[in-house]
Amino acid sequence: MSQDKIPVLDLKPQYESLKAEIQDAISRVLESGQFIMGPDVKLFEQEVAQYLGVKHAIAVNSGTDALVIGLKALGIGQGDEVITTPFSFFATAESISNVGATPIFADISADSFNIDPSAIVEKITPRTKAIMPVHLYGNPAAMAAILDIAQAHNLKIIEDCAQSFGARYYGTCAECQDSCQESTRTRITGKQTGTIGDVGAYSFFPSKNLGAYGDGGLIATDNDQVAETARMLRVHGAKKKYHNEVLGYNSRLDTLQAAILRVKLPHIDQWNEGRRRVAKTYNDLLADVTGVIAPHLADGHVFHQYTIRILNGKRDIVQQHLAAQGIGSMIYYPVPQDQLPVYKGQYPANLVSDLLATQVLSLPIWPELDTAKIEHIVNNINKALTS
Ligand SMILES: *Cc1c(COP(=O)(O)O)cnc(C)c1O
Repeated sequence: MSQDKIPVLDLKPQYESLKAEIQDAISRVLESGQFIMGPDVKLFEQEVAQYLGVKHAIAVNSGTDALVIGLKALGIGQGDEVITTPFSFFATAESISNVGATPIFADISADSFNIDPSAIVEKITPRTKAIMPVHLYGNPAAMAAILDIAQAHNLKIIEDCAQSFGARYYGTCAECQDSCQESTRTRITGKQTGTIGDVGAYSFFPSKNLGAYGDGGLIATDNDQVAETARMLRVHGAKKKYHNEVLGYNSRLDTLQAAILRVKLPHIDQWNEGRRRVAKTYNDLLADVTGVIAPHLADGHVFHQYTIRILNGKRDIVQQHLAAQGIGSMIYYPVPQDQLPVYKGQYPANLVSDLLATQVLSLPIWPELDTAKIEHIVNNINKALTS
């Protein structure tokens, strides 16, 4: 039986469904000639702020810049420590190092792939200034427990939401149930990721759940002072043009990308629902497959990635078998951040993170992925594990 190749991500169906509107938006910007900070940027910021339920949304050039500017706006720099997860894309730790602070890695929970609140507590020192949780794969981190810790130790929280646009916290985190206060959990239940801590940093890299057609990012905050500083840092540290007050960046979101994102934003919940449907189908089909641990279908999880654990050292065999059948898959992440060449030898081991790096495999997922393809993928995983 011949099957078409299945990529790990297919952005075409989304583009096809919005083609006319996107072309209109692009033409409108081209006709206007306002390529830098045109009206669409402000409108996009207003629309995202409303969608997220947050006071300020500041569009920037990338998710990485959102983290860097977010950290700076919180006053974090030289001599400060920021506790984060080892199990993430390097932009997470890189942003901390690039503002002159030191990333400190607290191990993850094997149930959620996210930072383990009890591991955070062990890493706090007098130099700790902030916690940077990542809602990895679109799964909200244990925010109630993290908030309790931040409050007890007077720490800031900057959430890396690059993979979690549209995700909401519902307190269903496997590792959180016993460690957080009921009142904290109740207070933040239903909130968007990125609006729970002091700052949320989002990415609109094309493959993210809300993707532009180029780089883009956004900072969300309820804090007026942080918002004002972030706006200033975005344009060379100037509130007023040619009156630069501090060292900043050139990190504006292109008007073209803002206009494209305005077309896409109203569809994000429906797309994330599509991703959850795909995840549930995978979970149902994988229930009978031994040697595989499927992810929890946590409430509010938006499945930027659908990532399984393959036990008994069989991960690479499965990936090779899938590749031979024309099925894409990815390893996010083969090397934990603390083990990357840039930091090698500077940190103690994080056993869970190190183990999961050898087990994880991210399978094809996008909102329109159909059930026949999912069945074909799972059949091939089964074949690889039983042959
Ligand atoms: C994509 C990503 C980033 C960086 O976003 P860019 O827009 O590519 O700069 C940061 N953190 C995580 C977890 C990401 O997945």
